[in-house]
Amino acid sequence: MIRDQETMQILLDSIRSFVNEALIPREEEVAETDEIPEDIVSQMRDMGLFGLTIPEEFGGLGVTMEEEVNIAFELGRTSPAFRSFIGTNNGIGSIGILLDGTEEQKATYLPKLASGEILSSFCLTEPDSGSDAASLRTTAVRDGDHYLINGTKRYITNAPHAGIFTVMARTDPEIKGAKGISAFIVEATTPGITIGKCDKKMGQKGAHTADVIFDNVRVPSSALIGENEGVGFKTAMKVLDKGRLHIAAIAVGAAERVLEDSLRYAMERKQFGRPISDFQLIQAMLADSKAEIYAARCMVLDAARRRDDGLSVSTEASCAKMFATEMCSRVADRGVQIHGGAGYVSDYAVERFYRDVRLFRLYEGTTQIQQVIISRNMIREAQQ
Ligand SMILES: Cc1cc2nc3c(=O)[nH]c(=O)nc-3n(C[C@H](O)[C@H](O)[C@H](O)COP(=O)(O)OP(=O)(O)OC[C@H]3O[C@@H](n4cnc5c(N)ncnc54)[C@H](O)[C@@H]3O)c2cc1C
Repeated sequence: MIRDQETMQILLDSIRSFVNEALIPREEEVAETDEIPEDIVSQMRDMGLFGLTIPEEFGGLGVTMEEEVNIAFELGRTSPAFRSFIGTNNGIGSIGILLDGTEEQKATYLPKLASGEILSSFCLTEPDSGSDAASLRTTAVRDGDHYLINGTKRYITNAPHAGIFTVMARTDPEIKGAKGISAFIVEATTPGITIGKCDKKMGQKGAHTADVIFDNVRVPSSALIGENEGVGFKTAMKVLDKGRLHIAAIAVGAAERVLEDSLRYAMERKQFGRPISDFQLIQAMLADSKAEIYAARCMVLDAARRRDDGLSVSTEASCAKMFATEMCSRVADRGVQIHGGAGYVSDYAVERFYRDVRLFRLYEGTTQIQQVIISRNMIREAQQ
């Protein structure tokens, strides 16, 4: 449930204006420079965007899941790179600390994340461990009241900017699967950490990912999240469950933007003496996109409300992530088609969105992994 409709509407209106007036006009600049301008980062800090999901007691806005997806619908309407910059502090980089951290860990790090003083990154993926995250090889070996961390993490969002990393590492080499994994908060200045070169990506210029290499990185035992060994994989999965709804909502917002742009273009562009929006084959593409966006929006909102009601949404979050992100790619593809040749050259945003949104189907669990989760949950329920 939205807690206070009026306050929420004011926040949503201010985010919509910020997206329309400050972010959309700067998209090209971000795509060309591969950087988020410092004045935009500072405005995002002032608006509290780094701490949307962090509870008020730690300096954030403490939004509910329903509120968060409504905000994500708005933020999704511009280049995903802007969202990515604040995304890890609100999602994968902070939720592990929030859900499973000790009171001291929360008090130390959450206020800095909420204010945007530091950025956080989530280090799960490795060169040989992606979808099969439980097979990760990074180790954290106990050494008195410290741990020594060794390993390489891959494609880590915001790694070049991060002040802290949430690192999943194997504390018990005897246990090969999920149960041998623990989660740590590692400060980026700790000796032994190297950040690799920024990855050259297909899209989302301005959002940076890189390898993070841990070479005998010594952290105190108080860096273990919840000071509890062997539950780090569970923490990571809880983080991703929530993250999936957020990505699904961002995909809805991006699809809405592409459709807005496509409709405008279809009404302006004339062929055969008429606007192309007069042609029923163009109308069919517009209508299919509209209906699919509506379906995805309803799914995301329903799953978010269920989560706020305390229900388990593993299946619904995966359904929403799978449907919304696949839908977004179809809408972007139709968007390019509606723009004709203009959709293939970079004069129109649709060309950039077509590349940018492709990522949504890959990270925080590929579409195939969502299918695996959904069907596994169905079979488990049927067996009970
Ligand atoms: C830009 C970007 C940002 C990222 N940010 C982060 C981050 O901040 N932190 C982090 O930890 N990770 C991050 N990732 C990693 C991302 O989550 C992984 O790339 C993703 O989970 C897939 O893993 P993989 O790339 O190893 O692909 P693989 O697991 O090798 O998959 C390859 C193909 O095999 C399929 N596949 C794998 N297993 C199965 C199965 N059981 N059944 C059917 N099909 C299967 C996959 O669906 C895919 O099609 C990021 C990735 C990118 C590209």
